[in-house]
Amino acid sequence: MSDTAAHPSQHPDENPGVRLREVLAQMPDYKPGKPAAAPAGVTAYKLSSNENPYGPLPSVLSAIDDAAASVNRYPDMAVTALTQRLAKALDVPAECLATGTGSVAVLAQIVNAACDAGDEVVFAWRSFEAYPIVTQLAGAKPVMVGLDERARHRLDAMFAAITDRTRVVLVCTPNNPTGPCVHQAELEAFLDKVPSDVIVVVDEAYVEFVRDPEAVRGLDVWRDRPNVVVLRTFSKAYGLAGLRVGYAVAHPPVAAALRKTATPFGVNSIAQAAAIASLDAFDELTERVETLVAERDRVVRALTDQGWKLPQSDANFVWFPLGADSTAFLQACEEAGLMVRQYGDDGVRVTIGEPEANSRLVEVAGRFGAR
Ligand SMILES: *Cc1c(COP(=O)(O)O)cnc(C)c1O
Repeated sequence: MSDTAAHPSQHPDENPGVRLREVLAQMPDYKPGKPAAAPAGVTAYKLSSNENPYGPLPSVLSAIDDAAASVNRYPDMAVTALTQRLAKALDVPAECLATGTGSVAVLAQIVNAACDAGDEVVFAWRSFEAYPIVTQLAGAKPVMVGLDERARHRLDAMFAAITDRTRVVLVCTPNNPTGPCVHQAELEAFLDKVPSDVIVVVDEAYVEFVRDPEAVRGLDVWRDRPNVVVLRTFSKAYGLAGLRVGYAVAHPPVAAALRKTATPFGVNSIAQAAAIASLDAFDELTERVETLVAERDRVVRALTDQGWKLPQSDANFVWFPLGADSTAFLQACEEAGLMVRQYGDDGVRVTIGEPEANSRLVEVAGRFGAR
């Protein structure tokens, strides 16, 4: 080897670099939840990504094991068995279902199917961090509408933000990272006004944890409204975050468009098998969800007794609207071995995890002092 064959990167002046889309420079990087880490002698808990703290059920593990034996083959591209099983579980026609590699991917399929460059996507803020990223990647423009003082969606303001460039509205219920759900009556009133050619996505990633009797029932609003899409995931209550499978319930023309914008063979064969086994284990998984809901209620009661004023949570996390104190709270949590998620100067989101982790959160919050 002669040193005349030097790597081009040694001559940066002569190499302007490849051309990438300008929008990438404006986009924040997606920040994954930090892995668990703790001071010596302290058990660390990862409460930063709204994951289910329970590992897979034995029946789900055995389905994963069986499916692993045939990974030399491509998965069923049409995701037939899982689609049929979901259609039965949800009581919707199979042609109304579209799957993807997590509901984040299904959301991207929706935005890619609906938006041309310069079209607008309206959503609340703060809400799910993926919303602006998915929107901008599609070449569309995010239109972000602030939450109210109880950290709830302001559907009137979201309606006012709709223009003739609006193609999609995202309604996150319960809202990640703040916790409250949208109510059925307010969503219906909103949908009655929204132009029927605008897609309204009801993102129900946490629906299994909802206990508010007035909460949105996505499938009910979907049933007779052709522009509504319900987004669900196996990542949270079903505990399959690592396998990446989510789905949309949409009317047939929209569902067909979502299949066109999907990554071919995206939902892998192990994920398909595990999702089916999880639907078959619904009762056992429901028990775990009940335990997490009871833990959430225990944590919220304890924090309220300490004097904290938190927004309602109908999900598997609680939101501390700490403003400028957010970094100090994050540090207090990390010193106690709790990995939590800070959102700038807005607040800190903490996932409901193992009972010991939740109790430790209550201790840390008590020492920190209620706000
Ligand atoms: C976690 C989450 C999702 C789902 O993510 P997956 O891609 O299915 O793992 C979707 N929407 C919201 C609001 C979420 O918090």
